[in-house]
Amino acid sequence: ELANRMTERVGDVVKALMQNGVMATQNQTIDADTAELIIEEFGHTVTRVSDADVEQVIEQVEDNPEDLKDRAPIITVMGHVDHGKTSLLDAIRNAKVTQGEAGGITQHIGAYQVQTEGGTTLTFLDTPGHAAFTSMRSRGAQVTDIVILVVAADDAVMPQTIEAINHAKAAEVPMIVAINKCDKPDANPTKVRTDLLQHEVVVEEMSGDVQDVEVSAKSGKGLDELLEAIALQSEILELKANPDRAAQGAVIEAKLDVGRGPVATVLVQNGTLRQGDIFVVGEQWGKVRAMENDQGARVKEAGPSVPVEVLGLNGTPEAGDVLNVVSTEAQAREIAEYRQQVAKDKRAAAGAATTLEALMQKAKDDENVTELPVLVKADVQGSAEAIVQALEKVGNEEVRVRVLHYGVGAITETDVGLAEASEAPILGFNVRANASARNSANQKGVELRYYSVIYDLVDDVKAAASGLLSNEI
Ligand code: GDP
Repeated sequence: ELANRMTERVGDVVKALMQNGVMATQNQTIDADTAELIIEEFGHTVTRVSDADVEQVIEQVEDNPEDLKDRAPIITVMGHVDHGKTSLLDAIRNAKVTQGEAGGITQHIGAYQVQTEGGTTLTFLDTPGHAAFTSMRSRGAQVTDIVILVVAADDAVMPQTIEAINHAKAAEVPMIVAINKCDKPDANPTKVRTDLLQHEVVVEEMSGDVQDVEVSAKSGKGLDELLEAIALQSEILELKANPDRAAQGAVIEAKLDVGRGPVATVLVQNGTLRQGDIFVVGEQWGKVRAMENDQGARVKEAGPSVPVEVLGLNGTPEAGDVLNVVSTEAQAREIAEYRQQVAKDKRAAAGAATTLEALMQKAKDDENVTELPVLVKADVQGSAEAIVQALEKVGNEEVRVRVLHYGVGAITETDVGLAEASEAPILGFNVRANASARNSANQKGVELRYYSVIYDLVDDVKAAASGLLSNEI
């Protein structure tokens, strides 16, 4: 590649590398500094990729109004824990998704689409929770058009309800209130509506302009009305995109699959993503090898608002990373490498700062603060981030939770090694330890704990933290 671009012979470049002590083969990747040295040796000029180059390659051409077509709204469900977010998403999916041919097994890809009776297509993000919503937003991906605020009619407005309202308002995303659990005898939808008034959410029943629908995820009551309310809100928003351009999208979830390599669920936001497309996504790049839709069916292309699982990445991106289709592999790789370098520099700078700060802080802290170190492994990036954010809030002036490491995938021997060194337990969320890690944990006395509910995990850590606290007193 380098020889090509300099229009030099490959053999000469390999020779030059060897003379500089780099025993490289033809297809080996070399680092930027080495490349620079070689380029200069051949008498060529080096131009490194800059922000401006990246912008030029993934230039955001304004779409002509006449090219814009209607697209499905993208919906996120938020609300207080146990108010029924997951149940509602499941109920909508089960009632509305046409079951796949293979015995109706629909796989979880982080988002799914449904059709309303009126014929509107809706895209639901299947990862409820505020942490996921904000961490995506902080990475620059605004992927939600409408927020469904779930409030349980037997419980009314709670702290996380208020948090959700604030998130939706901050993102300037319109809300629809789903008053859930209306099947319960002690349900009191009126209390929900009056409670909401105090938080400047005035629902239609109260002569406001926020739609509210009484539902029950359990009995299915009100689900169709809710979907129609969403369709109506979506019409008001006039959501449009241009299917005839290079695709741009956002990563909803990403993981490293043992059999298939890095896999990302991408929500296409503009353009159409096609098999064979070359793309950059955050610090990674790839070429679409295959795509599967929310029902596990192979698809060759995905237009605006369509979620697809993408295979063919060279690394695992993060939730919220933006995907852009580019023309050539060289461009894709260059941008990805450039971004990796920028991120590395940033981390180095941040590391230096925290070390200094930490040094000063440490002397102060040592006698006062007990740290509870933990390792977190989860099945998907979104969950891992949500857990870390929740854990960082646990603790007080005396005890603090420190997440030493978190990641996606099974618990490995490396994790156990790190945990042993810091006397930390490993918390697995929807993942387990592989056999060698299990053995190693047994030998080293490292505690492995498995969870499938974030709330339970956080609760246990809280309990452990308060245990530390009482020991201290
Ligand atoms: P999340 O934490 O907001 O995702 O809440 P979940 O969906 O996990 O629901 C919490 C609990 O409420 C579960 O035990 C559900 O079975 C129950 N639940 C959810 N929706 C309803 C509903 O409409 N009616 C009744 N009776 N129970 C519900």
